[in-house]
Amino acid sequence: MLDTDFFRRWMAVTAATVDREADRLTELDAAIGDADHGSNMRRGFAAVNDVLEKEDPRTPGTVLTLAGRHLISTVGGASGPLYGTLLRRTGKALGDATEVTTDQLADALGAGVAAVTQLGGAQAGDKTMLDALLPAVEVLGTSFEAARDAALAGALETVPMRARKGRASYLGERSIGHQDPGAASSALLVGALVEAAGSSDGSAG
Ligand SMILES: [Mg+2]
Repeated sequence: MLDTDFFRRWMAVTAATVDREADRLTELDAAIGDADHGSNMRRGFAAVNDVLEKEDPRTPGTVLTLAGRHLISTVGGASGPLYGTLLRRTGKALGDATEVTTDQLADALGAGVAAVTQLGGAQAGDKTMLDALLPAVEVLGTSFEAARDAALAGALETVPMRARKGRASYLGERSIGHQDPGAASSALLVGALVEAAGSSDGSAG
């Protein structure tokens, strides 16, 4: 079962990973966007961890709804509302349970991804975060490792795509040949599940 501490570790590992990879995310965004994705995500997840420490949420659902709300208020551009909606809707779908199964998380994240789809109006193949998230959600019930691998593969598959949503779409053909920064950061978020689960003995806090 996945308890509240697991969800806090997931957010903490995501913050650490985003911090470590911020320069790469910004480079990807510099190629087809406005070069702020790394710093935006770093600021957003740092704020998430601050608020989780301060408010000490007691259920998995409230960890994610709090996280989502603070991403919306601290991350600029399109990423804030999209990531915020993803986590907030996922948290809402988890309800009041104090522990959830991997299958319940997979279903809840599916609801979160559906909300992102609705908000952004993008589909698979549009070169967005959905190209990492959709394949990950499909296999999340199998294992976190499978979800991580699917998200990474999905992010890499955005390289030859032509962007059809967001700022990169203004570049038309010139968006081809670059990995989508939102897909790259989404793969980090999914990959953080593996590390969060691996440290369930509490050694990573
Ligand atoms: Mg940007």
